[in-house]
Amino acid sequence: MRYEGKLYRPPSEADSLIVQATIGCSWNHCTYCDMYRDKTFRIRELEETLADLDAAGAAFGDSVDKLFVADGDALIMPLDHWLPILERARATFPSLRRVSCYAMARNVLEKTDAELSALAAAGLSLLYIGPESGDDATLRSIAKGDDAAAHVEAARRAHAAGMKLSVIALLGIAPDRPDEHARATAELVTNMDPAYFSALTVTVVPGTPLAKLERRGRFSVPEVPALLTELRTMVDCARPTDTVFRTNHASNYLPLGGRLPADRERIVALIDEAIAGRVPLRPDWMRAL
Ligand code: SF4
Repeated sequence: MRYEGKLYRPPSEADSLIVQATIGCSWNHCTYCDMYRDKTFRIRELEETLADLDAAGAAFGDSVDKLFVADGDALIMPLDHWLPILERARATFPSLRRVSCYAMARNVLEKTDAELSALAAAGLSLLYIGPESGDDATLRSIAKGDDAAAHVEAARRAHAAGMKLSVIALLGIAPDRPDEHARATAELVTNMDPAYFSALTVTVVPGTPLAKLERRGRFSVPEVPALLTELRTMVDCARPTDTVFRTNHASNYLPLGGRLPADRERIVALIDEAIAGRVPLRPDWMRAL
């Protein structure tokens, strides 16, 4: 496999094959994100991506059961790239059971229903979408590019096509309006109704607009109890049908797991214990900062 620059993937894709069909992120504006700032977005030549799949097939063949298509919003690729990639992946990896990618809400909305259905039928089964917040004021302040309503509509259309969603929220991204952020994010999770929901903790990365705001005294990461309170509100108020919930990302102080709503009370009780200081938290040196 040939990779350009740093690769990023969700924690749950740790043992997946990664193929880099796009380079960078077509949006690249979110104020907290530095993942692809050093890359100019482009779609790789289709033949290069297919050749990488062939090479991976020769090396790993039967052992590949999950494929993650990188980089930052790979769903933006047109179908004349996606469909040959999905077809080659199915032909190359006999055990393949999941193909996933990162997506922005707009990537979904820019595709027709027929295109989304064709992608799902060809094997694209899971989209990772990071609205980070359901609060439109927060979404504007972090230059997310899509509002809450766009995320809900994207979820509706992806589900109608037969895809699953993994939705990501960001604790601490709205220090001026944490309760609004947490409650609106819970509402967004209810309305997007994803199969997976995870929360990460904001990290100020040098070189980002957020780092500039921090230097000017206009942003600071909330204290741990405030971060946990946001998390508690999200878990307590979200009403998804049946979601796998995780805070296992390395940025978090309190790794949690379970299903919502089935495990809501247990998870809320654990967060309350942590807020009260009765549960050990992951020390900063163990977090991926
Ligand atoms: S859409 Fe994702 S990858 Fe692109 S800038 Fe925003 S957070 Fe980063």
